Amino acid sequence: MLLVTPPNSYRIAAYLEAARALDVEPVVASPGRHSLIGELAAGVHIDLHDPAAGRLLLAAATRQPFDGVVATDDAAVPLASEVAATLGLPHNPPAAARISRRKDLARACLQQAGVDVPEHRCIQLDQPLAPQLEGLRYPVVVKPVSLSASRGVLRADDPDACRRACARIEAMLAREQDLPAAERRLLLVEAFIEGPELAVEALLHQGELELLAVFDKPDPLQGPCFEETYYITPSRHDPQDRALAVETVARACRAYGLREGPVHAELRLAQGKAWVMEVASRTIGGECARLLRFGAGADLETLVLQRALGRPVEVQPPGGAAGVLMLPIPGAGVLRRVEGVLAARRVPYIEELILSVREGYELVPLPEGGSYLGFLFARAPTPEQAEAALREAHARLNVVIAPLFHLHPP
Ligand code: ADP
Repeated sequence: MLLVTPPNSYRIAAYLEAARALDVEPVVASPGRHSLIGELAAGVHIDLHDPAAGRLLLAAATRQPFDGVVATDDAAVPLASEVAATLGLPHNPPAAARISRRKDLARACLQQAGVDVPEHRCIQLDQPLAPQLEGLRYPVVVKPVSLSASRGVLRADDPDACRRACARIEAMLAREQDLPAAERRLLLVEAFIEGPELAVEALLHQGELELLAVFDKPDPLQGPCFEETYYITPSRHDPQDRALAVETVARACRAYGLREGPVHAELRLAQGKAWVMEVASRTIGGECARLLRFGAGADLETLVLQRALGRPVEVQPPGGAAGVLMLPIPGAGVLRRVEGVLAARRVPYIEELILSVREGYELVPLPEGGSYLGFLFARAPTPEQAEAALREAHARLNVVIAPLFHLHPP
């Protein structure tokens, strides 16, 4: 099983574990700069954006044939689909994978297919900004076209804030040396959709969408940054709203041409419609997939690997309620310590608390930062209890941060 992955993947460990449990031999394809290969698994060093990467992987396949190809994260999706297509393995058409990863192409594609997406326009950063921002109706959301985890996504309520947002994202993109140059010069500006947000997790098989879970995101996400916090399942929204969201995701997948593998979507409910924020051909981000257990305890990565191998899987919706809080980063600086860990773990229904940042490491909040401080998991009889447990446990945590001073040469 070829696992194509960026170096900062939260998911690779879970995929490797699932592969071992299924008695499948994993081969990791990942950049060599911060290598995941060696200690963890056999593998091939590649540059995810280099056209030669596909050739390297096809050469590896001639030495040791692959039975399946999986992208662990957004950044690996286009390459994985190209390699799988060439090898004739279950995959998404490369064009569909490319669209699902580029926010500008995705918006245009869905609009043409009549799927509800916010009114939007593209901004070229190497062209004069003023004429491009003329006539916008505020509030808007400004975002890069190919980052993820809400990095660089900023709400702006007036033209001044919009110009500042563009400048801030431009500075940030200038540092993203791994992105193709054209994607560093392009922004998307779109109408801010006010309304509750939910997430849909599903698996595609031969173009048919199988629903795995609908999550509520119970905190209002108003901006200016959109930090992910609570995901609670099952959803407490009306059955019609949930059905509308799932049907909208299915229509979006058809519009993109996605046919195989995991789908993670975020939508907002407003004006009787489900507005697509994003539909990605990967599993839910961070460590959140740990929440989902199917049938006899199979996890999400196990289902994805089985599907990628063309094996039949029986998808049974998870029982009971569960929730995750992606721990917000309260400020910039150096993490000194997190207090109250034991007290948080003792809250009834709290299953696990994972801290992903070690003491002494720098915390970078959104919009520039993209990593998570940690994850709190709850499992409870009802979604209300799962959410209440997460809120109580979070209230018991105290994140101590020391200021970070950057030294500039005179
Ligand atoms: P990413 O792929 O980096 O997560 P998204 O485009 O999905 O970026 O945006 C991240 C979050 O920002 C969304 O989940 C949503 O909460 C908020 N957001 C993005 N675009 C809009 C919009 N047009 N209206 C309202 N909220 C938005």
